[in-house]
Amino acid sequence: MDPALRHLLELDRQHVWHPYATMPAAMPPVVVESAQGARLRLADGRELIDGMASWWAVIHGYRHPELDAAITRQLSRMAHVMFGGITHEPAVLLARELVELAPEPLSVVFFADSGSVAMEVAMKMAFQYWMGRGRPEKCRLVALRGGYHGDTLGAMSVCDPENGMHAHFARILPQHLFVPRPAVPWGAPWDDQAMAALEEVLARHGSEIAALVLEPVVQGAGGMYFYHPQFLRAARRLCDAFDVLLIADEIATGFGRTGRMFACEHAGISPDIMAVGKALTGGYLTLGAVLATAAVAQGVNAGGPGCLMHGPTFMANPLACAVARASLELVRQGGWRQAVSRMEALLREGLAPCQDLPHVAEVRVLGGIGVVELTAPVHMAVIQPALVHAGVWVRPFGRLVYVMPPYVISEEDLVHLCQAVVAVVAAHPPA
Ligand SMILES: *Cc1c(COP(=O)(O)O)cnc(C)c1O
Repeated sequence: MDPALRHLLELDRQHVWHPYATMPAAMPPVVVESAQGARLRLADGRELIDGMASWWAVIHGYRHPELDAAITRQLSRMAHVMFGGITHEPAVLLARELVELAPEPLSVVFFADSGSVAMEVAMKMAFQYWMGRGRPEKCRLVALRGGYHGDTLGAMSVCDPENGMHAHFARILPQHLFVPRPAVPWGAPWDDQAMAALEEVLARHGSEIAALVLEPVVQGAGGMYFYHPQFLRAARRLCDAFDVLLIADEIATGFGRTGRMFACEHAGISPDIMAVGKALTGGYLTLGAVLATAAVAQGVNAGGPGCLMHGPTFMANPLACAVARASLELVRQGGWRQAVSRMEALLREGLAPCQDLPHVAEVRVLGGIGVVELTAPVHMAVIQPALVHAGVWVRPFGRLVYVMPPYVISEEDLVHLCQAVVAVVAAHPPA
């Protein structure tokens, strides 16, 4: 290994704490030097096909000329300015453009600094809404098992209580209510019985529940599970019947990943509060946004503290807003529709051979998401280097080997990505 590279890895080992990792990390990370389109270039000269879009975010690929230009233009004006008492064009126009894309009647936007923070804000909005409506006792949430909503304390409290982090933080987290993950998977025949658990919880606890929190149609990091959109339609009706707000976490699903602009559109419903992040900036900078209805805003204003009690230092960062606007412009041009449906077909075909492996429980594909669920957890120390050796960047977790590539991935690269996943999964049955 090149001495400079060895030195860098040694410093990383000494000083850098990686996500969900021991310190120092159990395995050395790969060093990425640059990236272009759907390819990562490693410091040792190798190139990997990117199957992760950097955790759902880089939908238009790395170093997109229009996104690069937007951020450079904004940099020549200002990188940042505080948002209290100040506004700026990138934020105002981005808010309007988000509202235009989002389902009606979402009409107001609060900018947050990441997905997790967007979820914190969404939940605070719901609590404050009921304070304003004179019902402060509505301060619990109901969430779906198998969900994932972020890593901060409030977001953690609505993640799956078993495979999330509840077990470890039970003493610290607020105690919310959970219903089983939607029983009818995507593509299976609908059964009204699937609503019974939610209806029962709402009937019993509705008077103390502020909101139902869910990821529409696709549960991401909590298990990569796709469910029947009828669940969403029925959940929307139940929320209305029991005076409970609906918070849709579209942080992973937003901006086309599931084949619709927002996953809520599969059910033709609109939430009261919707959180977006991840692909919002095309994966260039961290930015989240919470969209809400005018009714939610009026409720928040009407009582309790009387204004939304949140305001991050880097709220509506102009560089992030500018690049988000450029990303939304590409989204509006609509090329993603064809790209995602082509990805869906190729993923379905490419990952199908996994179905015949004895240690594969299920292969499922929706939009630009392909999932191979194994019968037991993967052995990361073996499978991660094997994937890199096969020329692809895929980051499995638990029993899941899954991909959600940038929309711009070429057909050739996508075929290669699937072949690599099939070969590596076949060669490395979990212990
Ligand atoms: C990633 C994710 C979050 C958290 O976003 P961060 O930017 O990592 O804080 C929340 N909800 C969902 C559905 C996500 O996929």
